[in-house]
Amino acid sequence: MYLKYMRPEEIKDAVIRKLPVMLPVGAVEYHGEHLPIGTDTLIAEGLCKKIEERAEVVVVPALPFSPTMHWAGGAASGDMDFSERALAVYAEEYILQLTAIGFQRIYALIGHQGKEGAPALIMRRAGRIATAKTAASLGDGWSRLKPEQWPVEDLFSIVRVCDYDEFSDYSGLGGRMPVGHGGRGETQLIMALYDGLVKMGALKGMENLPEWLADVYEADKADGRFWVEFCVNGFVRHFGPYARVESQSTSE
Ligand SMILES: [Zn+2]
Repeated sequence: MYLKYMRPEEIKDAVIRKLPVMLPVGAVEYHGEHLPIGTDTLIAEGLCKKIEERAEVVVVPALPFSPTMHWAGGAASGDMDFSERALAVYAEEYILQLTAIGFQRIYALIGHQGKEGAPALIMRRAGRIATAKTAASLGDGWSRLKPEQWPVEDLFSIVRVCDYDEFSDYSGLGGRMPVGHGGRGETQLIMALYDGLVKMGALKGMENLPEWLADVYEADKADGRFWVEFCVNGFVRHFGPYARVESQSTSE
């Protein structure tokens, strides 16, 4: 389900059933001449879409802006170094509005800078504010309430900051999933999630590929598909009772 398309009755039902919320967090950032400027947002959104196909979750509109520090390129290439301060205000408001609706479990899927980067820290802070606000509404000594009297199931995990492979099982695999910046990892994820979006030929216009693009020609669509499945499987397993039984075998 996508919040944007849900009617009030469906939203109320999702709240009553405590459906998890998936919030893609991305950036508008230069990723090389071959990739779209919204690569991070697109990967996070694409994975949420695949997760939604296999589990009952509510996908909410992405947070598409993040600080980039113009690390990979400048404004002339489309890169937006979005202010950390502005993002913090926006993220805090977004989480408070989602919790006001009644959503209790918000999974922020971080597409930019990983779990210790600016957007991840900002999402954690927003979750922390939502926790404090909920706690303040309970009055003094609220630790003495029984868990079933709490207004949310887990007061301390309203927002959970997640990597793509957050719940995936690496046993039997050689190494971690390649992600990086614009190189093999992200390029093959975009190949796997969006047909025709990657233009490898555009790399020819780049003189001296930067270090982060050193492995870009190793990008492989089938490998990308493998890692997409790997990430999605982890989330679907984590969401347990919310998994859609009927479509489990239909994923390619
Ligand atoms: Zn990226």
